[in-house]
Amino acid sequence: MKHFYWALFILMLNVCRVSGQQQAPHVSGKLEISFSDGLIKGDFQLSKLPGLGKQYKILLNRGLNIGLLKNDSGKVLQYSGFYNDKLIGEAAAYYPVADNDTLSLPQKLSISYTGAFPIYTDTLNSFDFKGMIALNGKTLRAAEQSKWYPVIYDVKNDKELLDVTYDIDVECKDCQTIYINGSRPQSGPAARFVSAVPRQLLLFAGNYKAQVLDNSTFLNADLSPAEAKVFNDNIAFITNFYKAYLSAPYGDKVTLLQHKAVETYGPSGNWGFVTFPTIAVAGETFKSQLDMQKGTFKDTSNYTFYAHEMGHYYFGHLLQPNSTLKWFFLESMAEFLSIKAGQKKYGEVFLRNYISKAKAQVKDWKIKPLPTIVNPDNLGEGYRYIYGPLILLAMEKRFGPGAVEQFCRKALQKPGMETNYNYLLTIVKDAGIKDADWKKFEAEVINQRECKNIYPYL
Ligand SMILES: [Zn+2]
Repeated sequence: MKHFYWALFILMLNVCRVSGQQQAPHVSGKLEISFSDGLIKGDFQLSKLPGLGKQYKILLNRGLNIGLLKNDSGKVLQYSGFYNDKLIGEAAAYYPVADNDTLSLPQKLSISYTGAFPIYTDTLNSFDFKGMIALNGKTLRAAEQSKWYPVIYDVKNDKELLDVTYDIDVECKDCQTIYINGSRPQSGPAARFVSAVPRQLLLFAGNYKAQVLDNSTFLNADLSPAEAKVFNDNIAFITNFYKAYLSAPYGDKVTLLQHKAVETYGPSGNWGFVTFPTIAVAGETFKSQLDMQKGTFKDTSNYTFYAHEMGHYYFGHLLQPNSTLKWFFLESMAEFLSIKAGQKKYGEVFLRNYISKAKAQVKDWKIKPLPTIVNPDNLGEGYRYIYGPLILLAMEKRFGPGAVEQFCRKALQKPGMETNYNYLLTIVKDAGIKDADWKKFEAEVINQRECKNIYPYL
């Protein structure tokens, strides 16, 4: 009976948490792409908008011009943000007005817009990044960060509501294949994409082929069936390892997207980004990374690169880190998972090599100990990707691999919490690490400011 009440209590907590969570907005409508001149036309309805009152902006790529902004009943709305206003990232920030005041965010809005973007073919640009709407004559790539679709910005919580459910018709006369993140790629020139699962909308359209396999989908990869199988098998190995290690299902089938950036990458310079479940890579081709004789990647770093990106399903998607240790729980955890996946595949030699390389890198670094971090950005790149994972490896050595495995599992079971040092302490405790033992570890490792002091504990 007692158990029953506990179960009921926990159930109620969960209900509260779900109802307290914001519902994702829904985007429906039509996108037209004129591929040969880089022209994009959108006509969208946003619905299921949250009750943000006047604390919101509507973000749209700075290169897209609003035609009309309308309310529910089709009435044309006045709006501000088109003159003398600040950009937010790569987007202009608009807000409807009535009687010289911001209009409270209605539940539905309609927006039509048009814009054209340069096509880089022979001579490439001096930069490319995830926020670009990038055309290279063969493909158009527009990630959610570019705001090619209207995105509501929650001012009070400083949050872009990028995850949306969708029902979108795309028309692109010169496109062989069209893809919107989370949907199956479809043949052009026109296709409809529907998702009841909220997604961040990465759009990838153009003259490329899609290859759909059991564990992964390849876009623009031009892999032979044998190569696709080898790649797919390696991806499956990583997902199977994560499922067992974290005792949690891998939620999505990944899509691997190969594209040519509008800035020069390759042959050795690579660039990757993730809009889950899509992993996009520019530079080296998937094909060139494979060793078909051995049935694996030529370099272990290719394998760990994909393992890292796939690890963001857990640390980034299931657990969405915030607060002071945001970067530790996002990047150090994903990197640590990739090291474990590497160890599983390539054995202890891989792990020892990884550690000795990382040790050499951090030799002269000084850091702020985790308990003293007050601003998430105090954790610089090296700290996130190299030193943070070393702390986790030192924890493994001190408390045993089983304890750190538990630490990773427990971290995923508390979504929605502030990921600060107190959170880390809670998980340490949940993982069965004794208080006195942790205090000792804190003094010897965590609170050290000179990175080389971690050497004896690895
Ligand atoms: Zn990462």
